[in-house]
Amino acid sequence: MSTSTVASPQSPASAPTQGTQIRLRGVTKDYGLAAPAVDDVTLTIEPGEFMTLLGPSGSGKTTTLNLIAGFETLTAGTIAFNGADVGILPPHKRNLGMLFQNYALFPHMTVAQNIAYPLRERRMPRAEIERKVADVLELVQLQGRDGHYPRQLSGGQQQRVALARAIVFHPSALLLDEPLGALDRNLRAALQLEIRRIHREVGSTFVFVTHDQEEAMNLSDRIALFNTGRIEQLGTPEQLYHAPETLFTARFLGDSNVFAIDGPGTGSTLAWEGAVWRVDPRTVSPHPGVAQRCAVVVRPEDLHLAPSTADVPPDANSLPARVRDIEYMGSYRTVVLAYGSAGTPGRVRVEAFDAGFAIDDQVVAWWRPERQRVVAA
Ligand code: ADP
Ligand code: MG
Repeated sequence: MSTSTVASPQSPASAPTQGTQIRLRGVTKDYGLAAPAVDDVTLTIEPGEFMTLLGPSGSGKTTTLNLIAGFETLTAGTIAFNGADVGILPPHKRNLGMLFQNYALFPHMTVAQNIAYPLRERRMPRAEIERKVADVLELVQLQGRDGHYPRQLSGGQQQRVALARAIVFHPSALLLDEPLGALDRNLRAALQLEIRRIHREVGSTFVFVTHDQEEAMNLSDRIALFNTGRIEQLGTPEQLYHAPETLFTARFLGDSNVFAIDGPGTGSTLAWEGAVWRVDPRTVSPHPGVAQRCAVVVRPEDLHLAPSTADVPPDANSLPARVRDIEYMGSYRTVVLAYGSAGTPGRVRVEAFDAGFAIDDQVVAWWRPERQRVVAA
């Protein structure tokens, strides 16, 4: 990425603004279906924070964003910007920038006219509009494209124009709903970097919706993981990845080896198919559900393979397994395993040049007790 084109810190388009706090309390949207689309969501998005609403399709992310924007009315609960209730404010009075998957640019307007649109709506003087458009074009690195029409731009460039239009008027916050969903993998990665840089430079609150866990982990200060209209877990990407509280969270973020236990996870040991594992109390989820039913979760990078039990460190937890497949991933290999009598599937990450195992080998998988998580299942 070029650094020479970054807008000067004192230019209005890039000056860090005081971000807006967005506070949701008991927010509920019920369309009269079997379950509410959004069900009692309480969440405080801090000023200047990059918050991602992550979750599977249909989990209530877009509805939550639309409630913040005012496109939908609340069934119950309150939403406040910087402490002021916005419940009855129409969308245009909430002063929010919006970015969607389809760029929604005006096809008959040039890049500059598209970006100027929200400023003209606000009856800003022409000279000021020209200055702000020039600044924001620099911020999204589209200098020299001001006279182009959308059809003359690539998909990635069009999305940069839409982003410029969404932030040029200093919105209270920027709401982004799967904005990179239509772009190919490389372009997505490039635009993720751009969005992060722009967030740092403008300093305003970003609320970003995605179903893509990698995108969420790359971008966010914090992630609110949605499951059927509720927040399953809220935390930093590191917290959600390393300290999932439930099986849903462990499965949604990253790969996991999952051992379902038919009982509570509150003792000092756990048994699975005859193996007995030590439990480090620091790895037990505080989720109340863990007292009824739990699962032991181990990440592929925390597992090791040994030829036999004799090769396993004495304080490790372990389990016999059969090698089902070995996948070459470039920088590493994934050994696909079948555990125990039922052949429970699992994955271990090993060095790319580790050729010590072959398909159908009997091996022992082991891990440190402090690297497992006991989650509610
Ligand atoms: P997501 O963005 O996480 O994919 P949505 O917020 O779009 O999920 O949808 C959540 C649930 O609400 C889904 O079951 C969806 O079918 C339902 N839903 C969304 N919008 C409407 C609507 N306007 N009328 C009825 N049901 C809706
Ligand atoms: Mg959606």
